[in-house]
Amino acid sequence: MDNLRPELELLYELQNYDIRISDIRKKISKAPSLVEDKKKSLEYKKMEIESKKKNFVKLNSLKKEKEAAFDSKEKSISAYSIELNSVKSNDVYKVVLLKIEKAKSDKGAIENEILELMDKIEKESVIVKSAEDELKKLEKKIKNDISEFENFIKKLEKEVTAVETERGEYKLKISKTILMQYERIRDARDGRGICLIDDESCGGCGMMLRPQLINQSYKCHELVFCDNCSKILLQK
Ligand SMILES: [Zn+2]
Repeated sequence: MDNLRPELELLYELQNYDIRISDIRKKISKAPSLVEDKKKSLEYKKMEIESKKKNFVKLNSLKKEKEAAFDSKEKSISAYSIELNSVKSNDVYKVVLLKIEKAKSDKGAIENEILELMDKIEKESVIVKSAEDELKKLEKKIKNDISEFENFIKKLEKEVTAVETERGEYKLKISKTILMQYERIRDARDGRGICLIDDESCGGCGMMLRPQLINQSYKCHELVFCDNCSKILLQK
């Protein structure tokens, strides 16, 4: 009877290729969500700045309104002043004079409001400016991170292709029947189809093996499978 040991040793080595391939593929598959997270954090920052800018814009338009009101008070004052020159009656004169006083006090109040707004706008513009600077830095960093990451992924893709090619050549050394059984177990289990016997236990699942299986695995005349995890067993 054939001794399967040399072939099983090759199979065990082939499994190392499979483990490497699957590890690299796992890393590659995580890439899109990592890139997405980075992009999201940038979007969040942009939204934050947009809301700060809205406040800035609102204050500016309020200032414009106040300035228009200020102008209109000034116009009223000069109109009343002209009116004052042509007034004949003393009573009307007093009324117009009062109107001028009122318009002047309104104008003063508006002026104070404008000054307050200017102060707020200045503070707000500092906030927006620093947020924009921060955003620029963040944008640059994230762009850089993403491109570094994409390069890393490209490297991994090259690496996995190389390992797959090597594996493709390596597997030719193993008979198709054994290969197929191994692959079936590997795919149904945790990516491993063969394991070493560790003392008297299965190195895959840790289960104690029946003496008969251990004997068979020494002889290596046939494939021996763990009763529990079904992996092919190989003596160290
Ligand atoms: Zn097992």
